Amino acid sequence: MTGDSTIADVLLPLALDGPYSYRVPAGLQLKPGSYVSVPLGPRQVTGVVWALSGAPPAGRALRDVIAVHEVMPLSETHRRFIDWLAAYYLEPPGNVLRMVLRAPGALDGPRAQIAYRAAGPRPIRMTPQRARVLETAGEGFAMRATDLAEAAGVGVSVVKALAKEGALEAVELPALKPFPPPDLNAGGFILTADQRVAADSLRAVLAQRQHKVMLLDGVTGSGKTEVYFEAMAAALASGGQALLLLPEIALTEPFLARVERRFGAEPAAWHSDLRPRERERVWRSVADGTAKIVVGARSALFLPWKVLKLIVVDEEHESAYKQDDGVPYHARDMAVLYGSLGRFPVVLSSATPSLETLVNVDRGRYGVVHLKDRHGRPELPEIGLIDLKRTSPEPGHWLSPQLLAEVGKVLAEGDQALLFLNRRGYAPLTLCRACGHRLECPHCAASLVEHRFRRQLMCHHCGHLEAMPQDCPSCHAQGKMVPVGPGVERLAEEAASRFPDARIAVLSSDLSRGRLLGDAIRDVAEGRYNLVIGTQLVAKGHHFPHLTLVGVVDADLALESSDPRGAERTWALLAQVAGRAGRGAKPGRALVQTYLPEHPLMQALKKGDRDAYFSQEKTIREQAGLPPYGRLAAIIITGPDGPETERFARQLGMSAPLADGVSVLGPAIAPIAMVRGRHRWRLLVKAQREVNLQAFLRLWLGQVKSRGALALQIDVDPYSFL
Ligand code: ADP
Ligand code: ZN
Repeated sequence: MTGDSTIADVLLPLALDGPYSYRVPAGLQLKPGSYVSVPLGPRQVTGVVWALSGAPPAGRALRDVIAVHEVMPLSETHRRFIDWLAAYYLEPPGNVLRMVLRAPGALDGPRAQIAYRAAGPRPIRMTPQRARVLETAGEGFAMRATDLAEAAGVGVSVVKALAKEGALEAVELPALKPFPPPDLNAGGFILTADQRVAADSLRAVLAQRQHKVMLLDGVTGSGKTEVYFEAMAAALASGGQALLLLPEIALTEPFLARVERRFGAEPAAWHSDLRPRERERVWRSVADGTAKIVVGARSALFLPWKVLKLIVVDEEHESAYKQDDGVPYHARDMAVLYGSLGRFPVVLSSATPSLETLVNVDRGRYGVVHLKDRHGRPELPEIGLIDLKRTSPEPGHWLSPQLLAEVGKVLAEGDQALLFLNRRGYAPLTLCRACGHRLECPHCAASLVEHRFRRQLMCHHCGHLEAMPQDCPSCHAQGKMVPVGPGVERLAEEAASRFPDARIAVLSSDLSRGRLLGDAIRDVAEGRYNLVIGTQLVAKGHHFPHLTLVGVVDADLALESSDPRGAERTWALLAQVAGRAGRGAKPGRALVQTYLPEHPLMQALKKGDRDAYFSQEKTIREQAGLPPYGRLAAIIITGPDGPETERFARQLGMSAPLADGVSVLGPAIAPIAMVRGRHRWRLLVKAQREVNLQAFLRLWLGQVKSRGALALQIDVDPYSFL
């Protein structure tokens, strides 16, 4: 270490304004990016060296760095990424660092695992138990003491005693199984001419070794995945790591298998459901560069990349990329930021790109490659509108006679139909027929949703569960509680009564993540069900070759929201759901039930004309100064006391500085006025594109601190307006 680096500024994973300074004891080798343990009050915390400098500030006694961890230091790019992201979202950088340190055990170095196998001398004293252990251990592989004991049906002490006597030999297992290196030519198809052109353009971009964002635009099934695999291969060939981001954990399983087929080796997976040891394994392997490919959810961005050379963001339009708790970052946007700091390309892939991305293509900031359907099919299947004002379902039912007739035909022909409704549970509302009382969450200003499969009422905002009451909790009338409106479970009931012979599957996130859902999706793909009822989950990336008819039960749901992206989202959702039909041998159709058949969006959908729809939507946004033509930030104020929360919100609104090109709207009571017992108020800041929104927010809110029980959240580029 150079003699004058005696002070380390260490960023800690805490909501502090910046790094804290510590003295570096003689003999401790530190670099910027080193992971260190330092004292903080009575505690010891792990942080990262942000800077090293010379003499300590006069008159300040600094505490010593305790130790340095044996891990590859965090790269400069990654440290700049953290600083940038923190500044952009007005978060303390320590909160961002916390997302990097998500595998605490990984810093302690690989914990060695001891295993046992049979060795030379047989013990002098033999018992049947000992014999069983030796027999099991003699099978060839080393096993951990607990595994060996379990396999032999004995206690661990028997194993330990044999080891002590030398009849079992202790060996050290590699603590973390390394990820095998990918084989760039292991799999893959012979690309079609279209795919080859697209892959060549991406490879050309990678060869530049510069930052560039490329949109890969093509319908589902057009072969985008195979094309971006080629870009990943190019990144790996140049010695880099590649990250494939997916919006849903449920999608990672099938993707892992595909990546493994293409690259002949298991890629690393990263998401919130990983077990601690697997987290450590992935984290360390990403840090030391042995994990070359990571398939992950948005938080994979924060893994301690050694040489990241490419990020692919699949389904880039997905709003699930925006984190809605903690640091409210948008993973697609931050992937682009990371690419610009690390000077590498980012590929955005989608069948329904976001308006933001399309505008960036228009402006020439992003490049684009198009893929046409390999089977020469049009972008969307034939879409018909069903006008619910004219042909309405029977009361208490949601399927119009026309949709029922079409589903009946499809089932009779032995094909598969999908009914799409973006509402989980049985019914969104439960009312008392005697007094009109509505069942509400005790902690939120929201109705409880009946989940009949689980026999419970659930709050979709806080997760509160309770049993369905027999009597009205308000007027105590008996047997008067009635469900109002449909959820997928209720729709399934209606479908079952109409089509008693149908094999019905209900797909929603209630199947929980992971296995159950994965199995159900595979069963649907393999045709074990012929009538599928699902929420937006079914719209995402799955390939159902037997599906020939999609019925959209309520196309108006998302259009009615207060979200400026509501129409765009509806387009993406409906186009994706409709696009599920006809991906196999037979052509498909979609039927869309709506009360607004004249709506420009419905008309564009019917004509399959994305460009017309988006050019119209761009005009609307531009005139309203909404993103990407203007900037937005939401301020959410919450508190346990209604009037106090309101007063604070109003004071805050009054204290907003005047600035050119910025307007502050509100405060207004939030559409969901209470969540988890906290009252909610919102302010919306709208700024012109040239305005430095962060500077404005800092000037305004820099001095405002959360006060007592009142809390203030800043959401830059908000996606939720609830
Ligand atoms: P997308 O990512 O656009 O939805 P995929 O890459 O998943 O499309 O391709 C859709 C299907 O076509 C997949 O089952 C894939 O295995 C197959 N496929 C893609 N490219 C080819 C090709 N060049 N030759 C044969 N099959 C292909
Ligand atoms: Zn609730």
